[in-house]
Amino acid sequence: MLNVAEICTATEALGSGIRAVVWVQGCPFHCRGCLAPDWIPDRPAQQMSPHELAAALLSDSRVTGLTFSGGEPMAQAAELAATARVVRAVKEVTLICFTGFRLEELTDRPAAAELLAEVDVLIDGRYVAARNDDRGLRGSANQRVHHLTDRLRGFDFTGAPRRAELHVNDRDVLLVGVPPSGLTAAWSTIGRGGM
Ligand code: SF4
Repeated sequence: MLNVAEICTATEALGSGIRAVVWVQGCPFHCRGCLAPDWIPDRPAQQMSPHELAAALLSDSRVTGLTFSGGEPMAQAAELAATARVVRAVKEVTLICFTGFRLEELTDRPAAAELLAEVDVLIDGRYVAARNDDRGLRGSANQRVHHLTDRLRGFDFTGAPRRAELHVNDRDVLLVGVPPSGLTAAWSTIGRGGM
């Protein structure tokens, strides 16, 4: 089972086109300035099977891609890999995955290899607030963009202007995207975040 912090079924703020996003709960890193501190603790959140999560991620027919974030996706790598396979059995989608690990730190992890086999673009490394350059889809300039396939070569992951969306439902407001730092500071005073 997956331990899911949040789902967004459609956004244009986390990669090319319209994407469905899952943020997993729990991260072994504690980066200063993390945009999603509520999702760092390894505590029970929404328990979902890969099939349940895949159904949620496929619920908007406009979606052409998935983004996995967190929390730490590599801590639930086997379950997320299974989710990607279930989605792709139904629909061909691209997959972007964030991780606080550097790619080299994942080589001895079979579950991570299983997930990496599904990933088109991996954005790796811990967030370093002092290197946040307010550009692109990675949080700070030390984080690297690995094109593991050619499917998303046309998208500017490092230089494009940042964008973020506010998603409002009956219980919460969710900040989706990698926002400009000014917005991050304002948001930290009023609510919770996603990335
Ligand atoms: S790796 Fe990502 S989710 Fe984990 S603490 Fe760092 S910024 Fe937050």
